[in-house]
Amino acid sequence: MSTFPQDWVSFDRQHLWHPYSSMIDPLPVFPVVSASGVRLKLEDGRELIDGMASWWSAIHGYNHPQLNAALHQQIEKMSHVMFGGLTHPAAAELGRRLVELTPDSLQHVFYSDSGSVAVEVAMKMAIQFWYSSGRPEKQRLLTLRNGYHGDTFGAMSVCDPDTGMHQIWSGLLQPQLFADAPQCRFGDDWNPQDITRLRLLVEEQHQVLAAVILEPIVQGAGGMRFYHPQYLREVRALCDQYDLLLIADEIATGFGRSGKLFACEHAGIAPDILCLGKALTGGTMTLAATLATSSVAQGLSQGEPGVFMHGPTFMGNPLACAVATASIDLLLESDWQGRVGQIASGLEAGLAPCRDLPQVADVRVLGAIGVVELKEPVDMAQIQPKFVEQGVWVRPFGKLVYVMPPYVMNEQDLVRLTGAICRVVEQHCA
Ligand SMILES: *Cc1c(COP(=O)(O)O)cnc(C)c1O
Repeated sequence: MSTFPQDWVSFDRQHLWHPYSSMIDPLPVFPVVSASGVRLKLEDGRELIDGMASWWSAIHGYNHPQLNAALHQQIEKMSHVMFGGLTHPAAAELGRRLVELTPDSLQHVFYSDSGSVAVEVAMKMAIQFWYSSGRPEKQRLLTLRNGYHGDTFGAMSVCDPDTGMHQIWSGLLQPQLFADAPQCRFGDDWNPQDITRLRLLVEEQHQVLAAVILEPIVQGAGGMRFYHPQYLREVRALCDQYDLLLIADEIATGFGRSGKLFACEHAGIAPDILCLGKALTGGTMTLAATLATSSVAQGLSQGEPGVFMHGPTFMGNPLACAVATASIDLLLESDWQGRVGQIASGLEAGLAPCRDLPQVADVRVLGAIGVVELKEPVDMAQIQPKFVEQGVWVRPFGKLVYVMPPYVMNEQDLVRLTGAICRVVEQHCA
């Protein structure tokens, strides 16, 4: 087989689905041959400064020697072994760190292969918990509009009904309850009315509700919105008052992205069930984890069936666990909070000029996340190559041009990244 680039790129175009893409007239994709630090190297030799951290995951940048070493060490021992009836040090080492890093109440870890599956697992845990506690009618979930929790059926049922295109799946998705998205922004004064709608839903429906599921503080793919920590505290209090479990989906926010190690820390609350993914392995391997309190874990293990009914083939994959442990150690050894703070300041300063552009509705930054919200959706076919021409990798969606760079990005690269965003928005967005 020829390795001549045009060959594989045209094969890709004809045969491979990319995320959220069409097979009739797919948008062009850019061929990457290697990646190192914060740079992606294209097949034609150009280098792009990466603003996306491969969708929140590559927090240490690419091709990191410590992560590579962890992968090499593990692969010499075994890259995989089934987790049914067997265990291995890599799973235990990672589990110990996850239990230590997260709130004391979260003591039990379920590994899976992707964020969406971690959400499915969380939902099943919540429902089975109430089933085993003699309250099988508590099966539904309450969530927030503008949320995103993944693309599998259970996860889709709690994604925003409009952006999640629920109409396609009508009759197939479990009908869940949706509260209005929080309006009170992070950093604004708290407005107690913000929680009214959610409180009403809880008061009316708590008998049939198993859990509230939400993305704490940062609503990611459903709108890149940052909301008030008091909202989260109010939800926690309502869950306690009305016997609902709280599922925090920190798949995007986990491991420092919002300025705290976990976004729940902004509100000083702990969930009953926590979903982690994306940055868990520093962007090297696919791995996710669902953590539960002892009360949830023991509750769902009592009575019939007495076991938790889930078990992915690649559960606790040793290679993924080993590199996740290395990624967490690398994060904790670094001054990650200082780095994220510096990126926040750099994004604030670098994106500020966008505020004055007529096509821009809002500019916001939280931690190492920067968002330029436009008044009109971008034309992807037109705008994507413009970013590449500017030497940066930025992948907008809808009205949102946003970045979440690797934490290791230096000031100079950040200036180039934000400068490119301002130029492209100014010159190429309506
Ligand atoms: C990305 C994401 C998911 C889904 O994770 P996958 O690994 O893509 O399945 C779920 N929840 C949130 C908040 C996410 O950002």
